[in-house]
Amino acid sequence: MTPHLLLRGGTLLRPEPKTTQDADLLIRDGTIATIGTDLDVGDDVPAYDASGLFISPGWMDMHVHLREPGYEHKETVATGSRAALAGGFTDVACMPNTDPPLHTRDVVEFVRERAEDTPVGVHPIACVSKERAGDEIAEMADLEAGGAVAFSDDGAPVPTAGLMRRALEYSSMLDRPIINHMEEETLNPSGQMHEGEVSARLGLDGIPAASEDVMIARDIELAARTGGALHVAHISTARGVELVRRAKAHGVPVTAEVCTHHLTLTDAAVEASQFDTNTKMHPPLRSPADVAALKEGLADGTIDAICTDHAPHASYEKQVEFAHAPFGILGLETAWGLIGRELIEPGVLSVEEAVRTLTVAPRRILHLDEPGLTEGTPARLTVFDASTEWTFTKDDIRSKSENTPFTDAEMVGRPRAVYSDGQFVECGAA
Ligand SMILES: [Zn+2]
Repeated sequence: MTPHLLLRGGTLLRPEPKTTQDADLLIRDGTIATIGTDLDVGDDVPAYDASGLFISPGWMDMHVHLREPGYEHKETVATGSRAALAGGFTDVACMPNTDPPLHTRDVVEFVRERAEDTPVGVHPIACVSKERAGDEIAEMADLEAGGAVAFSDDGAPVPTAGLMRRALEYSSMLDRPIINHMEEETLNPSGQMHEGEVSARLGLDGIPAASEDVMIARDIELAARTGGALHVAHISTARGVELVRRAKAHGVPVTAEVCTHHLTLTDAAVEASQFDTNTKMHPPLRSPADVAALKEGLADGTIDAICTDHAPHASYEKQVEFAHAPFGILGLETAWGLIGRELIEPGVLSVEEAVRTLTVAPRRILHLDEPGLTEGTPARLTVFDASTEWTFTKDDIRSKSENTPFTDAEMVGRPRAVYSDGQFVECGAA
């Protein structure tokens, strides 16, 4: 524990209202005690040199898979939390496709108990349907009482409009969003990658953009009619962005998130990597036009949050033929370096706007309190820079798994440290 800490010489970055302030920040007993210049404190308080670094409210990744219970060979709450700390995150929201799934209150509470020892806030997202089977609605009120912050059958879509309508009706009563994995599965029963020129050339079954677009359109209609809050998980298509943009303009209660890998890679990576199974995920890596539309959607606020869909799989599971490999890659450790490279350095987002997608946006969608950067509030913050050029290597992985296409990739900007729940953790050391 580090109850007292002086962060000396950093730049405090508040995403809302957007302000920056060069100041020292003194933490006493886990609470921000004083913000000021040239703070003089006794030798009993350890100091961290934050000169040249930003300090923001703690980052949150609202879409991760921690795999516990049931798939502890891929990841656990403990190892996933270490990956979060390495990536600069103080909070994550974890998806319910575990075994058993997070479809009963006791499983939701189990995950929260597993997170008690880590400074990372772990916020479970519970199932929409019993057994995550897509048939019968889960006991949503009971799940919410157990600590669920949202509902999703992620890993799979809510398959029918009837179930989705009921879920949205309950969600408006509970004031919690429904997060849908947008995929009309009948349009791509055996798809391996984005349907397009590359899949045709490689002879792989395609996942058409229409599979995502049709589901987003269905759910927007249902959200408009029910008033239930709809959150579009891992948006990946240009048409999907347009649908969300139009829905927002009409006042439909819809929000959206985008994954760092969908902003970074296209379907060309499948071919260029010669079928590296770390280029296989749901939704798939899309076309250059889709990537451009995602960036536009972020820049104009159509897309609210950036997430990673951190999806660990063991090496023996991924090191198989492309067609047999599971979908998904790691994300927590590479998120900020990719955001810096793809969004901040090219001028798509400012540092403040990028931080907003990791702080204000996910917490507003999930109705969680935003950690403050003011005196008297509990210290929950991330220390980072937005310009260090570095190379991500296997040594930077803290997840239990290693499935990332970004080994040896160039990164811009580095998370340095996290303070949360009375603990100070340097990102490399977690
Ligand atoms: Zn998903």
